[in-house]
Amino acid sequence: METRTLGKSGLKVSRLCYGTLTMSPLQRNMSPEDGARLLIHAYERGVRFLDTADLYGTYPHIKLALKEAPDYVVSTKGYVWDEPTAAAALERAYRGIGRDFIDLFMLHEQESLYTLRGHEEALVYLQKQKERGHIGAVGVSTHFSACVRAAVRFPMIEVLHPLINRAGIGIQDGSREDMEDAIRAARDMGIGIFAMKPLGGGHLISDSLAALEYAIESPLLDSVAMGMQTIEEIDANVAAFDGDFSLLDGLKNRPRKIMVHDWCEGCGKCAERCRQKAIKVIEGRATVDQSKCVFCGYCARACPQFCIKVV
Ligand code: SF4
Ligand code: SF4
Repeated sequence: METRTLGKSGLKVSRLCYGTLTMSPLQRNMSPEDGARLLIHAYERGVRFLDTADLYGTYPHIKLALKEAPDYVVSTKGYVWDEPTAAAALERAYRGIGRDFIDLFMLHEQESLYTLRGHEEALVYLQKQKERGHIGAVGVSTHFSACVRAAVRFPMIEVLHPLINRAGIGIQDGSREDMEDAIRAARDMGIGIFAMKPLGGGHLISDSLAALEYAIESPLLDSVAMGMQTIEEIDANVAAFDGDFSLLDGLKNRPRKIMVHDWCEGCGKCAERCRQKAIKVIEGRATVDQSKCVFCGYCARACPQFCIKVV
């Protein structure tokens, strides 16, 4: 597995990053033991980078895995906007994964220059934690090309985690080309790039070969985060990143979908949470436009009645 340096952060990561959202309670809801088994298998196959979030609930899976896979570079992220929220999220991460150092901490789902400015206190705090030796690098995750463009104005941002895929699915403010242009400009400023959702959150599964070729061969992407739920998927993706795409054909990829249970009360909290505008309350019940949904599961977390599931 090839490793690359994430821009000026200096972090050395494998080109394939293990995205842990798929094993989380928001999606497959694996036990920490089952999740750790997959993470350890990927590590044994050369994967050295994993991504999580305060929201995902996968710190226990990672903590277990790190006992046998100590050299994983761990990236996490949180909805933080000032010093107290950032300090609390960092503390949860340290305790959650059982380390006193987080390789990469990112502001989760940022949108624009205005969002970054509004959250600058958190960025400054994180930068100070980096200088004190508690964080390896500070970054930002986003579905917006405007945010990628704006990030270059904040010298503490050394890594970006943008949504990009062959079809541009899920990019909130433009096309794949818009995002590529923004990423190119950020890379020119020394920012490391690790991509999310190379399969468009599941929409490109039927053409995963072309979608993966795009992500792996893109000169813009230092690393690519992929959610993997089985040993076979890990082996096929590791082989693809090593140049052998032959195992992808044999994968029995299930198309994903969102289910809303009958006990939905139509409160609309899920719709407020969905950045993709994929869920609406119609006639008193949450209804999902599966063509817009990227199956992130964030609406499930927002539902007070626990009636949404990604299956
Ligand atoms: S948050 Fe839950 S209860 Fe409220 S509308 Fe959405 S699915 Fe229904
Ligand atoms: S409907 Fe839910 S799972 Fe789909 S994109 Fe919106 S928040 Fe994510």
